[in-house]
Amino acid sequence: MPIPTARPLRTLRTLGVTLAAVVLGTSPAAQAQAPSPDRVLNLYSARHYQTDEALYENFTKATGIRINRVEADDAGILARLKAEGTASPADVILLVDAARLWRGEQDDLFQPVKSAVLEQRIPAQLRGSDAGQGAQWFGVSTRVRMVVYDKTRLKPADVDSYEKLASPQLKGLLCVRSGSHPYNLSLFGSVLEHLGPQATEDWLKGLVANLARQPKGGDTDQIKGVASGECGVAVTNSYYLARLLRSNNPDDKAVAEKVGVMFPNQASWGAHVNIAGAAVARNAKNRAAAVQFVEYLVSDAAQRYFADGNNEFPVVVGVAPNAALASLGRFKTETVPIAKVGANTVQVQQMLDRVGFK
Ligand code: FE
Repeated sequence: MPIPTARPLRTLRTLGVTLAAVVLGTSPAAQAQAPSPDRVLNLYSARHYQTDEALYENFTKATGIRINRVEADDAGILARLKAEGTASPADVILLVDAARLWRGEQDDLFQPVKSAVLEQRIPAQLRGSDAGQGAQWFGVSTRVRMVVYDKTRLKPADVDSYEKLASPQLKGLLCVRSGSHPYNLSLFGSVLEHLGPQATEDWLKGLVANLARQPKGGDTDQIKGVASGECGVAVTNSYYLARLLRSNNPDDKAVAEKVGVMFPNQASWGAHVNIAGAAVARNAKNRAAAVQFVEYLVSDAAQRYFADGNNEFPVVVGVAPNAALASLGRFKTETVPIAKVGANTVQVQQMLDRVGFK
């Protein structure tokens, strides 16, 4: 499919153009040049959630712009953008981690976007840094890195902070996915911001000493490990837990209801927040439509898709999380700029290598 050249955005709204043509008495010839139905926006997405289909369809319905989606993981997308260079067909990029968004910015794969809509609707700490031309990436939903634990073996006070996960009391009880998975790199990058390098490396050493098993599987596997008794405590993104809570499968529901749930660090800096974020590609051929798509992602309607479809927290103040997440109670989140967390992950990876956290 060839990529059409950019047109003024108002011509994309088929219905609006038709009405305008009628009202203004535009000639039939002009109407014949009305928007082509195959306007396409090329999206590279690391979001791995089936529920996003409805999110994209809604955009197409509203704008007439079709989404041509390429899916890969965050690292795969960044590698592909680099390899494609100026020939890249990518217009807009969705990644699911702050560290990767930060990396994309460092590698000059995005372009700044100045948008009043994005500045108004997305809290400043959830956007990339802005040197005056606008940020290069924008958080469009958040997820909290939570702790789940075995209520029969541990008390809430044993696991109410990330620091305590390294306490000798939890020896042989901790389950967690790979240390260098982006979700963990960003959590550790946040801890580095709060505790400083020496205390963070000691803490990581403590995590390794407490492992119940070698890191393996995804976050859902860690929750299941706690429910089965193999693990005493584990770390997971909030949406994996909410997905189990909302599951129609009674076994999944039982898993989620069996484990204790903790939002860590409520007495200190707050629970660690990561983002799914969007960026306009450096060599976007359809820049205006790409910006329109990113702005759409923070509309109330799209925010509800993130909340109800994939159990993420909306970034827009005033859009409520879904009932399963709301049932977990209110909690405090950290306010450290997510761009700093991303930047810290380079140093974190070196620490992980030193302490042998695979
Ligand atoms: Fe995920």
